[in-house]
Amino acid sequence: MSTAEGFPAILGGMPIRPQGPPLWPVADEAIQDALQQSINSGDWGRYQGHSNEQLVSSISKFLDVKHVVPCASGTAAVELALRGLKVGVGDEVILSAYDFKGNFQNILTLGAIPVLVDVDQKSWQISAEMIAQAVSSKTRAIIASHLHGGVAPMPEIVTFGRTAGIAVLEDACQMPGAIIAGKQAGTWGDIGVWSFGGSKLLSAGRGGVLFSQSDDIIQRVRLYTLRGNDAYPLSELQAAVVCPQLDQLNLKNTIRSRSVEFLKASLSDFTGLIPFDCTLVETSPGYYKLGFQYEPGKFGGMDRDLFAQAMRAEGIALDPGFRALHLIHSARRYKTTGSLVEAEHADRQVLTLHHPILGSQDPADLQQVSQAVARIHTHASQIVKSRKKQNPET
Ligand SMILES: *Cc1c(COP(=O)(O)O)cnc(C)c1O
Repeated sequence: MSTAEGFPAILGGMPIRPQGPPLWPVADEAIQDALQQSINSGDWGRYQGHSNEQLVSSISKFLDVKHVVPCASGTAAVELALRGLKVGVGDEVILSAYDFKGNFQNILTLGAIPVLVDVDQKSWQISAEMIAQAVSSKTRAIIASHLHGGVAPMPEIVTFGRTAGIAVLEDACQMPGAIIAGKQAGTWGDIGVWSFGGSKLLSAGRGGVLFSQSDDIIQRVRLYTLRGNDAYPLSELQAAVVCPQLDQLNLKNTIRSRSVEFLKASLSDFTGLIPFDCTLVETSPGYYKLGFQYEPGKFGGMDRDLFAQAMRAEGIALDPGFRALHLIHSARRYKTTGSLVEAEHADRQVLTLHHPILGSQDPADLQQVSQAVARIHTHASQIVKSRKKQNPET
């Protein structure tokens, strides 16, 4: 390898992946066939058709749940789930201060109050212990999300919820098909949700689904959505493209998990880039993103956003994670009980690798990730210096 080839792309070198990250979603014959069938049969123009029926029955079997309701997006699914749990004006809903922003906004939409709790120090996921400290007489529900390949401890959270008489909404948008302590992610809570958004593991460009064992919860959701017509629908064409992806989900999850094991091993020398890990037994997470805890000190003081930028210049889809919810919303909007210091660490230090490269079965693709990290690590002080020259104040 010549010097020029080994030079970071952010400093003008040749990118390790000049072609950029793999495309998502991928072209797939089964998806094309399903679309063609829906078009040929005329079902694509129907409000209620074969594809939605098939999707409901497949998901119901896959998750072993009684009720499955497809809808317009993962965000809509969370809103409907909260309505199904009777969350209303003045009620409190507990969620992690490090979570998907739409979950916070959905609580406000219902006139309820988000109660933010800190994340666990090791996993940067919500924990039963933190939830317990935030409960009040007004607590109506808990939102537990599994984020960036990390897993919320559902057995403990559900046990706590049951004892306290508080409903649990499990947001499994980032890990359809994952197994947590021997049970499907999303089916631990009183109600669970998936997203079919454009970047997600099961994708219809847009869309989502909610599922539950409870007749009452689903009855309330249906009363809300059915206004002579479904006000939050998933179209027949959307349902048609999801069905074949569900058939392939377990296989693809296995491939992604294998890739994550490979990556973890190949990145183990870089102590400033620690992959999210789960210690729950009988658990295999899903990987919409693989999260990392980033330590600037181990990369010559390079800040997290600059590191992500240098990786993207190499053609690797690495991005900062979420903003902590209390740092981007007025304190008038939420309540909190204790310190949110770990959520603030997550806000500053999370990096996420987008999943398409994990679907590759060519080890060369995965090796490019660790090659890019190594190259940036080697040239860290030069990258930091060149940035200081460009922005002398920072
Ligand atoms: C993507 C996502 C959602 C919402 O999904 P959309 O379909 O994009 O509305 C909700 N929660 C989490 C954790 C997500 O990652």
